[in-house]
Amino acid sequence: GTGTGAPAADAIRVFVRVRPLSAREQAAGGAAARACVSVAQERAVVLADPAKAGQEPFVASFDHVFGPEAGQEELYAAVGSQMVDNCMAGFNSSIFVYGQTGAGKTHTITGDVSRAEDGALAEQCGLTLRVFRQLFDRITGEERDGVRYTVKCCYAEIYNEEITDLLNPGGCGLAIRDGDAHRGVFVEHLSEHMAVNADDVMRLIQKGSANRHTAATRMNERSSRSHSVFTAVVEAHERQPDSGVTNVRFAKLNLIDLAGGERVGKSGATGDQLTEAKSINKSLTTLGRVVTALTEGKSHVPYRDSRLTFLLKESLGGNSKTSLVACVSPSEESVQETFSTLVFAAGAKKI
Ligand code: ADP
Ligand code: MG
Repeated sequence: GTGTGAPAADAIRVFVRVRPLSAREQAAGGAAARACVSVAQERAVVLADPAKAGQEPFVASFDHVFGPEAGQEELYAAVGSQMVDNCMAGFNSSIFVYGQTGAGKTHTITGDVSRAEDGALAEQCGLTLRVFRQLFDRITGEERDGVRYTVKCCYAEIYNEEITDLLNPGGCGLAIRDGDAHRGVFVEHLSEHMAVNADDVMRLIQKGSANRHTAATRMNERSSRSHSVFTAVVEAHERQPDSGVTNVRFAKLNLIDLAGGERVGKSGATGDQLTEAKSINKSLTTLGRVVTALTEGKSHVPYRDSRLTFLLKESLGGNSKTSLVACVSPSEESVQETFSTLVFAAGAKKI
């Protein structure tokens, strides 16, 4: 779809996750060890800026606010499980994690993707693998009823508006193509990998994350300055019992770990840092504008203004379902970044 027309009321769900104070924040003491964020009735987040003592705290409400005690399975139940339902119903869907570096984005979307000793998912496993575990359970059930499924995955990184294949180290500087009637928007030469169970997905995420890490040591925290997009295209072939005609349905799932939303070098940033800051700013601002245009039902949606939004064009708006999880640190030390994260998240939520 073009994303025009009446927006569905539930097209975008916005969540906030407040992580626990880290060991470093606790050890640092003082402001770093003091929490300035609290949760009210699981729906609102309250931010008390110590610099504005005596004033009303900032309060914003969301679909759900998760406090420091919320575990990975709770996040999956509230945020991820609907993605599985959407996919089985033939809708595209996306989950974004947004927030400053260190706020818990990667923990939330990826987490621990190693295996527990008993073969189950690790306790700290994040949303992605939990989604695919459930998805393959559902697919196995339906295959007993004669529906045939294929699941193809890719994993891309966008850094400085340039696309790299996280599953094929040779693939960089890739181009986005549009207008192919069959495939729609796609990244040219991005490798595709069949997955037949959650273990296959686990291996792909492990491999892609490792490639993100390699780049990080080489290029100074590149992983926090880049977006990563894990995509699965789920194809269902269903033979109609009466006509014998085979019906094919597609649904795309995207799990997106956004670059850190902090303002890099407000003053004095030069060279590589300035380039990075500009591209991150451009893509996050465009993402915000796309979401606003969609929730307001505007006829022009600026998808093409950034690689990220262009790549996700068919997964934002139209019949697609989007969830945003804004991750924040509770520490007073991060109060400014937490405030701007909450403002972004509140802006994504239709009022
Ligand atoms: P980001 O990806 O936003 O930069 P990370 O997900 O890497 O942040 O989180 C930073 C650190 O905090 C990691 O060591 C991570 O394991 C830990 N962490 C983040 N969120 C939580 C949480 N909800 N519970 C426990 N530890 C967390
Ligand atoms: Mg991260």
